[in-house]
Amino acid sequence: MTDTINTSSSNFIRRIIEDDLASNSTGGKVHTRFPPEPNGYLHIGHAKSICINYGLAQEFNGSFNLRFDDTNPEKEEVEYVESIIEDVRWLGANWKSRMFFASDYFEQLYQYAVELIRQDKAYVDELNAEKIREYRGNLTEPGRNSPWRNRDVAESLALFARMKQGDFEDGQYVLRAKIDMASPNLNMRDPVIYRIRNAVHHRTGDSWKIYPMYDYAHCLSDAIEHITHSICTLEFEDHRPLYDWVLDNLQTPSRPHQYEFARLNLDYTVLSKRKLIELVKESFVSGWNDPRMPTLSGLRRRGYTPSSIRNFCDVIGVTKNDTRIDPVILENALRDDLGETAQRVMAVLNPVKVVIENYPDTTEQLEAQNHPQKPEMGTRMIPFGKVIYIERDDFMEDAPKNFYRLAPGREVRLRYAYLITCKEVIKNAQGDIVELHCTYDPATRGGNAPDGRKVKGTIHWVAQVGAIEAEIRLYDRLFTAPIPEKLDDWKSAFNQDSSQILHTAMLEPSLAQAKPGAAYQFERLGYFSADLLDHTSNRPVFNRSVTMKDTWAKVSK
Ligand code: ATP
Ligand code: MG
Repeated sequence: MTDTINTSSSNFIRRIIEDDLASNSTGGKVHTRFPPEPNGYLHIGHAKSICINYGLAQEFNGSFNLRFDDTNPEKEEVEYVESIIEDVRWLGANWKSRMFFASDYFEQLYQYAVELIRQDKAYVDELNAEKIREYRGNLTEPGRNSPWRNRDVAESLALFARMKQGDFEDGQYVLRAKIDMASPNLNMRDPVIYRIRNAVHHRTGDSWKIYPMYDYAHCLSDAIEHITHSICTLEFEDHRPLYDWVLDNLQTPSRPHQYEFARLNLDYTVLSKRKLIELVKESFVSGWNDPRMPTLSGLRRRGYTPSSIRNFCDVIGVTKNDTRIDPVILENALRDDLGETAQRVMAVLNPVKVVIENYPDTTEQLEAQNHPQKPEMGTRMIPFGKVIYIERDDFMEDAPKNFYRLAPGREVRLRYAYLITCKEVIKNAQGDIVELHCTYDPATRGGNAPDGRKVKGTIHWVAQVGAIEAEIRLYDRLFTAPIPEKLDDWKSAFNQDSSQILHTAMLEPSLAQAKPGAAYQFERLGYFSADLLDHTSNRPVFNRSVTMKDTWAKVSK
């Protein structure tokens, strides 16, 4: 992959790595990983984690692993594995041949657990989940020892082997680490490290009946892969003592360390797979890749580019304190990117017909720039004729003085074409405007008056000849509240108006060549991309990726 992921903004994890390299505490190596659980599609929060992990590995000439943390058979699916691979690759993180699955280590993890039992540092318990909770105590009260805590090592070994063989029901026994039931850290009160699940795993089938818990499997997977810096989100800070305990009590191939950063929270959306699954399953959205979703597949379909997401992650930085990010920052990252790269074209979303009375019954070709600030992007020819469309909003019958667009008796510039003056407004029986009759000044070809008269407004247009009809999908925020989770019913804040489909749009003919995924600036309207799934040349479908910051003042120089 040629793309580099930038971690230019200084962050505290970089400083830790620099110190580790200076003191040679990791043998001069930097090795990170991104460890998704394949129980949903990746979202923009995961992009932050990928950018941090991959970015640091790249910056320090280290290695980066993609590791599926697939230890929970009931919730995990191959579909999720495949989508994650596609999304990480799309974002530009290159794991080379280093893709791993925690399930590949099940045998090794089992042997490590046997070793803990042998050392009398783990035991098979037969309290049920409810009792375990009850015995655990709480923040003010210490826990109590399970009656099985002092089970003989030999007995625990035998029971653990039978758990593995499938002799028991789910929940009948668990394996617990023997740490300290009075620890002020609840995670250290003899945490469960293995549980029985008579389930089918998407990779190992039904060969395993016991599955390791996250806190046990994660640190050991890191150690097996020689990860040096295991970077995760802040909610794991209290789990770090357990991470260290497991590694300190076993002979592992390496000794990784865990570091925590603040997760990304984005306003007006939710970033929890559990909630995103609900939106999908309950048909609030059309799927994980609905263009309103904060998933990478949704953002991609909306028209987000990998570089815009990487730049966003760079801008928000890596911190230790929880913050919320305004979606405007994400939108700006896309504007900045497409502002540079997207070809400019003209499209009219909500058209009104304009007849240019004094224009001959012919068509001419006018030259338009593909990117006014980038002449190297070239020009294209667009047809102009007697009948054109303009945006309904660009005409006003009783216009105030400062309305610089079209109005009866007023003159406006058609971008790359002529100055036109509105002579007559044609309405139907209901009083709706159906046509505007105008005249043009043939001496203003290209848009400038030879007599130097000032015409402030410039509007976009599409000629009827060659115009392409298209479906346009306009999107808004998924939720009406900045923090939906704060409400009693987070789904009550779902934005019912978050998707609007227009069937009226007319596009300039050059868009006949648009390929799915191609991005354009529709002049004055925003950035649009041809829908990745539904767009065809016979039935063009464009999504608005992001609006223009400045709706129209900019082009009217
Ligand atoms: P979710 O809360 O969406 O279910 P998760 O943490 O359960 O996310 P994982 O698949 O375990 O999902 O996440 C993989 C990695 O991505 C973890 O290291 C996790 O810390 C990180 N991650 C998840 N959500 C965010 C977020 N919002 N911001 C930054 N990193 C995140
Ligand atoms: Mg997780």
